[in-house]
Amino acid sequence: MELPKFKYHPDPIKTGAFVKSDKTCESCSTNRGYIYTGSIYCTQNVNSICPWCISDGSAAKKFKATFLSDAPPRIEIKIKKKKI
Ligand SMILES: [Zn+2]
Repeated sequence: MELPKFKYHPDPIKTGAFVKSDKTCESCSTNRGYIYTGSIYCTQNVNSICPWCISDGSAAKKFKATFLSDAPPRIEIKIKKKKI
């Protein structure tokens, strides 16, 4: 299965944002073969999210989460400052 495209993260496999995994996504409850390894900013304890749920926004909506891998650098800095 081909990974979804991320505007601000053209090669997430190469950068390690997504890795092959047999974990089940906590958003869609599906094992899609890939799991996001980057930072997840949300109020709930979410560990395993697949690239597709990040790409279509369903994980962000479900967990009120922010995924830095698909945010433009300017927004990343804002989020980091807020959280620290
Ligand atoms: Zn998913």
